[in-house]
Amino acid sequence: MTTKCRTFIDVFSQHSEVTGSSILLIIKLSNGDIVKGMIDCGTFQEMEYQDENTKFIIEPKQVDFLCLTHDHIDHMGRIPLLVNRGYKKKIYCTNNTAVLLPYTLHDNFKIMKDRCKRKNQKCWYSIEDVTNAEKLVDKKSYYETFEVHPKIKITFLENGHLLGAAMILLQIEDEENINLLFTGDYNNQNVFFDVNPIPQWIKDLPITIFAESTYGDRTTEEVLSEMDKTFKENILEAVSENKNILIPSFALGRSQEVLYHIKEIQSQKKLEDYKIYLDGSLAIVYTELLRSGMVENLKYEMQDFLPKNFSYVVNGRMREDIINSRGHKIIVTTSGMAQYGPAKVYIPEFLSRMNAIIHFTGYCAEGTYGRKLKDESEYNENIKFTTEFSAHAKKDTLLSLIKEFSDVKGLLINHGNKEVKNKFKTYLKEKTSIKEINILEKKLGYRINAYGIIKELNTIF
Ligand SMILES: [Zn+2]
Ligand SMILES: [Zn+2]
Repeated sequence: MTTKCRTFIDVFSQHSEVTGSSILLIIKLSNGDIVKGMIDCGTFQEMEYQDENTKFIIEPKQVDFLCLTHDHIDHMGRIPLLVNRGYKKKIYCTNNTAVLLPYTLHDNFKIMKDRCKRKNQKCWYSIEDVTNAEKLVDKKSYYETFEVHPKIKITFLENGHLLGAAMILLQIEDEENINLLFTGDYNNQNVFFDVNPIPQWIKDLPITIFAESTYGDRTTEEVLSEMDKTFKENILEAVSENKNILIPSFALGRSQEVLYHIKEIQSQKKLEDYKIYLDGSLAIVYTELLRSGMVENLKYEMQDFLPKNFSYVVNGRMREDIINSRGHKIIVTTSGMAQYGPAKVYIPEFLSRMNAIIHFTGYCAEGTYGRKLKDESEYNENIKFTTEFSAHAKKDTLLSLIKEFSDVKGLLINHGNKEVKNKFKTYLKEKTSIKEINILEKKLGYRINAYGIIKELNTIF
């Protein structure tokens, strides 16, 4: 009975784990029309999947629309390559993502060029592909429903993961209606802006959800218990021992959040004789964007989040001077995983000759310099990390999000390590009454109609 619907969507994913996010939708309408869309077009960062970076599971020329959840490389980094291979349609994103995207694309172009040069490879795409991609951007406000086809509507929902981040609601209005929700990377809160509740009309829709699962194996409490001390406690302890402090941080969001916490510590009359620096060109650009008033929805108190005694590090000469200066200092620097950027210059200096701590503030992927150092923190008391700044909801918060919807027809888990996705599936089966819960990955596609997930599809990729 349920398989007789003439409207359905076949969904496929190019990514099997955390990075390289890209979901392909092949939408079959009752009149026989076929519409092909993509949710995200991200770079693969895990070593294991590097070969995927130059491949697509569909001919880019055939794609009718691309919709972005947010401005992180693992969700948008391969857009210029998609354009290089013939994609000419629109790229839909939120207003704030449209502000941030050009900076991230240009920075990513430099990283790609350096990397190809180092490996003696031809560049994957050119700077023209980056500028052509920028021209395709069509920005939308949250809750502004727009059409990508006369029978297909999209709405961006608020999401605390990152400035500009969205959950995506896709609605097909045909003989039978189909509603899909893509969480993207999700968080229910953000230090810089408020996240308003999901409107009731959306929560009442019969819906199939695509849920991320980065922390699908742990609750908020369990993640917090993984650290001995908070960021503030570690900083105050280092200060009491007269130590310098190096803080590798992600350029967008995390660096600014860390600076805000330093400002808060200062307000308690601490760190009086410490100079504070931010190093990393993209982190500086984002900091200025946040202060410029160009981005929407910032909390009032976040208009001025920078600490006292603060400077940007604007060139290599200044960096040298800071390293060699005698005074106390806190340096917030990119990249967060210490794989690129000025962090790589500071770390050897801080490790070898300074009375200092190195404090990581986020996830470090397997195989990165940051991960190596974090692993050393067990026996090196000058290497610290915290799990309190995560931009991803943990499994208990993801469950609360899912439970907000009253009529979930099916759920597909993505954006997680293989083992984590399986654990999250078991957890959701226990905690919800959703009939179909499955894992979306490269080898496993699904057909979805108005009644939910109706069958598995073998993929040929
Ligand atoms: Zn993200
Ligand atoms: Zn992601």
